[in-house]
Amino acid sequence: MSTPAAPLAPPLRVADLRQRLRALGAKPCHEDRVLRSWLQAAPLDSGAKRRRAEDYLPLAVRADLPALQADLDGLATVQSEHPGEDGSARLLVALADGQTVESVLLPRDGLCVSTQVGCAVGCVFCMTGREGLLRQVGSAEIVAQVALARARRPVKKVVFMGMGEPAHNLDNVLEAIDLLGTVGGIGHKNLVFSTVGDRRVFERLPHQAVKPALALSLHTSRADLRAELLPKAPRIDPEELVELGEAYARATGYPIQYQWTLIDGVNDSAAEMDGIVRLLTGKYAIMNLIPYNTVSELGFKRPAWEKATELARGLHRRHILTKLRNSAGQDIDGGCGQLRARSLADPSQ
Ligand code: SF4
Repeated sequence: MSTPAAPLAPPLRVADLRQRLRALGAKPCHEDRVLRSWLQAAPLDSGAKRRRAEDYLPLAVRADLPALQADLDGLATVQSEHPGEDGSARLLVALADGQTVESVLLPRDGLCVSTQVGCAVGCVFCMTGREGLLRQVGSAEIVAQVALARARRPVKKVVFMGMGEPAHNLDNVLEAIDLLGTVGGIGHKNLVFSTVGDRRVFERLPHQAVKPALALSLHTSRADLRAELLPKAPRIDPEELVELGEAYARATGYPIQYQWTLIDGVNDSAAEMDGIVRLLTGKYAIMNLIPYNTVSELGFKRPAWEKATELARGLHRRHILTKLRNSAGQDIDGGCGQLRARSLADPSQ
């Protein structure tokens, strides 16, 4: 009889780190001090300034700092780094169990983090969606992506738009947002929760102490096409999604950023532009048109830049605040999940 495989340890959460410190006698202010040092990418047990701060920590906590630092360092490590021509850089990040996720250093002090290994939404144009969900990324692992990035350059904005659907890992993502928006020192509207739309998000976000900005992946104004493109997204019609978004935008005072991956011959028609105008006229919203990053394995094409520019101009003329954006690092497997897929196919990369 074969022995059943040992269950995998759940991914580490910020709450676990706090619990470890508390068990050593730390008070909440001590916990915050230690977590702040981590998030500032300052080693916990070196440097004169640090030592002065440590003097205020309980002895048992101070004694544990080298071991804690080693554990934090092991949460996420850079497996490979791919600078792009636009000032961005893609990091392939290895987690402690060997799984990999992608983080992207964005121009102007931004960072895009991953919240799941794989993703269950299965968007037909996305490499990450092809894998299905492999595991959740713990809140401490999400925060570790920020600490890793800050060891390279300042991070003043974090977007939750990497691999995974944040709404499917809500507790971990909200815990990470809470830490980043408090001891992490990131302005709340500079934390951007990106989702295909899930009712749990609209129920919970308005009650959070740290309320992030919201990006909603719309991609089409047609409910039937949306069900084809995002086969496992919750069934919420575009009209209802926009209404839910509008309520959150009015409650927080930040506009909703609608994401529209522009795919040649799929959602770049005049009828779709009419649909955007119908949905967003008078709404507190920004429409981001993002020309698709062609992947040879998937059967979709990027529209010509001239056409995308014309569509954005047309929406502007019709009073829809529209931005035409390239996904960062076009020249380096710019679409979500492409870097991981390439590294799995060829581990030497
Ligand atoms: Fe998941 Fe986002 Fe990819 Fe869709 S686009 S499958 S939500 S990671």
